[in-house]
Amino acid sequence: HAPLAKVDPEIAAIIHDELVRQQDGIELIASENIVSRAVLEAQGSVLTNKYAEGLPGKRYYGGCVEVDRAETLAIERVKRLFGAEFANVQPHSGANANQAAFMAMAKPGDTILGMSLAAGGHLTHGAAPNYSGKWFNAVQYGVRAQDGLLDYDQMEELARANQPKIIVAGGSAYPREIDFARFRRIADEVGAFLMVDMAHFAGLVAAGLYPSPIPHAHIVTSTTHKTLRGPRGGVILTNDPDLAKKINSAVFPGLQGGPLMHVIAAKAVAFGEALAPEFKDYQRAVRDNARALADELGKRGFDIVTGGTDSHLLLVDLRPKKVTGKFAEAALERAGITANKNAIPFDPEKPAVTSGIRLGSPAGTARGFGEAEFRAIGGMIDEVLSATLDGGDSAPAEAQVREQVLALCRAFPIYN
Ligand code: PLP
Repeated sequence: HAPLAKVDPEIAAIIHDELVRQQDGIELIASENIVSRAVLEAQGSVLTNKYAEGLPGKRYYGGCVEVDRAETLAIERVKRLFGAEFANVQPHSGANANQAAFMAMAKPGDTILGMSLAAGGHLTHGAAPNYSGKWFNAVQYGVRAQDGLLDYDQMEELARANQPKIIVAGGSAYPREIDFARFRRIADEVGAFLMVDMAHFAGLVAAGLYPSPIPHAHIVTSTTHKTLRGPRGGVILTNDPDLAKKINSAVFPGLQGGPLMHVIAAKAVAFGEALAPEFKDYQRAVRDNARALADELGKRGFDIVTGGTDSHLLLVDLRPKKVTGKFAEAALERAGITANKNAIPFDPEKPAVTSGIRLGSPAGTARGFGEAEFRAIGGMIDEVLSATLDGGDSAPAEAQVREQVLALCRAFPIYN
């Protein structure tokens, strides 16, 4: 019964230091968020002790009465949230959800068509180093050189030429709306399944602020920890009862063992939060804040890929400021702002260097930042990244911005 600080002071100190890092820094990583205490509490609960292979009411272990109630709530809530008929809430992560979806619809060696990593897709959509690129014949579409928008014509040509079993829509660094109806039309034409990975924009979909893929896709996958503001994890949705059965057996026993019941309980809490009316206000602020940041950076001479955003994220081409993504990530981190370097479409730099950074508004918005704060953050980013433009050193700007970051964070405290 001893507390963590007594049992393992080393780990307790790390957790404390990470808390301070989150409290005192501006989080702009588009895939991250700040969960509620309620979510943390559920995830840190005794449900972690329970084995519950199977599904509610059909388990391979005894003693599942209580966890059955938690999983049933998670399923019912996420179905209501997205208007889907079927949900599996057991995938441990977004990558696992995608793998289960592939397993439900295809066999190794089949052809899949997804967005390339370089254009803003995700590793699990057919990238060479991922199982999806190794076990499937992966064909990849991208974005248009002239405006950075999804190249639907190329996607359709590739679908007709390669007759994929699955077409995947969705990505990790694509800031604009996706035309799911157009994806479904080509999927139907070539006899493919349409899978939409809404991991990034799921929160906006739940709030009705981004087109829902549910009416169009055969299977929709998502993470639960990005815009959705839940614990780290995955979820799979469908309206097709046959696919629903295949998804269930792909998740277990196909790919996973016992589900993480503490995480599933935390997912239920997050889905409940997302069903509350305030969630819509939060998501509207997420989108407005991303737009304000894009606008501010654009005014300050940064090149925003596609000219703006329809979602929570923006991709910034740093070349006008003559810095790389690698430099920007490190310099901003020294100033207390966390973001990630990201390839821009047709990036001349190597993936470990890149010409861009990806920025997102979900975490900052969760701590209460509004458009004024996001415009101020745009100014801070500019101060740091313009400092070297005429051969100067960025260290003084980083130190100055670090103070501004601290002041802003202390005005919008978290977990205090
Ligand atoms: N799908 C998309 C579109 C993502 O952006 C990500 C993560 O960044 C994933 C799937 C994978 O999620 P996880 O990191 O939970 O495996």
